[in-house]
Amino acid sequence: MASKYVHVREYTVRAHQRLIHTRVFNFVCKQCDRSTKRETYGPRPLYCEKCRPPQAPRKSVTRSQKAKPRPMAYKSGLDLN
Ligand SMILES: [Zn+2]
Repeated sequence: MASKYVHVREYTVRAHQRLIHTRVFNFVCKQCDRSTKRETYGPRPLYCEKCRPPQAPRKSVTRSQKAKPRPMAYKSGLDLN
């Protein structure tokens, strides 16, 4: 069977779901310089779980509590006839 290299053009993949897996990295934390390991989905982590907790507490998004205008039934003694 003959074989040869062909050039494959860059193309955009459609949006799709992909199952990804975590990996356990052994590394040295950049902040505390201790060797540690950490499980991540993405690239090699830089910081240990103490320096960068896995789920950092989200800053509570304080939404501006704007009072919405409400329809109000005004009672008046005036008769509009
Ligand atoms: Zn650390």
